[in-house]
Amino acid sequence: MVIIDSKTEEYIYDIAKQSNGVFASSVVSELTKKLNCDREQLQQALLVVAAKFSQAPISSFFVGAVAFDKITGNLYLGANLEFKHQALSLVVHAEQAAINNAWVNGAHEITSIAINAAPCGFCRQFMNELSSAGNLSILLPTGKYTLSELLPCDFGPGDLGNASSLMANDVSDIDIDLPISEALKQHLRYAYVPYTQNLSAAELVLKDGRAFYGRYAENAAYSPSLSPMNSVLSQLALAGEALNEADVERITLVEKAGNENQKSVAQAVMTSLKGNLPLIHHVF
Ligand SMILES: [Zn+2]
Repeated sequence: MVIIDSKTEEYIYDIAKQSNGVFASSVVSELTKKLNCDREQLQQALLVVAAKFSQAPISSFFVGAVAFDKITGNLYLGANLEFKHQALSLVVHAEQAAINNAWVNGAHEITSIAINAAPCGFCRQFMNELSSAGNLSILLPTGKYTLSELLPCDFGPGDLGNASSLMANDVSDIDIDLPISEALKQHLRYAYVPYTQNLSAAELVLKDGRAFYGRYAENAAYSPSLSPMNSVLSQLALAGEALNEADVERITLVEKAGNENQKSVAQAVMTSLKGNLPLIHHVF
């Protein structure tokens, strides 16, 4: 096991904040050399950094996850996110955060994820929606497992007649005639919504101009679905921004007319942000 000293941890934490929790393959190579370890050992060594992005005002249980995308060779951090005064069912789990971070930033095939604690049943189900679920290694402090070892007799997309999967889903080519950014339109097209067809995505812009994006990622068991607002708030957290301190300029949620279902849950978690921002809400 690779242990990093506090000075190296700070160095890596700074890189992570500046890259919003995305380690490009060139940085992965640099760090494996610097720490004299292989990529899986690096994933586990980075867990201490990933957990620093956790915001857990309810549990004070700081979870980190580090996902590997086989196509790009990049690593993607994730951490849990809790919302005080909201239902526990609205939290973002670290595994969801890492996979969402990968997906929103262009990854296509997650084949390995390191976690600093055993994944809960909810997360095992969330990971089972991935196109790579059958080829996913889970690196835990207790050893290395396949998802099927941790989730036997599984229920998945095929049980609902869904032939698509998260990260291999079709990209919609629809025209979106709304006064929103091109980036937000593009994230809408990538939303994974096989069960409700509610193409939905969110944009959060800070007063300093930085913009973050989230997409709706549905799940065959429904409850582990990640809402677009939770997706974008998790992205904000991975830039090292505390929800109750970030200077947010505006938040926009877009949904598919006739299938919309995200407005109230988005407004609920937005109460954790500083100020009393209105939600800009569009349907198309
Ligand atoms: Zn979990």
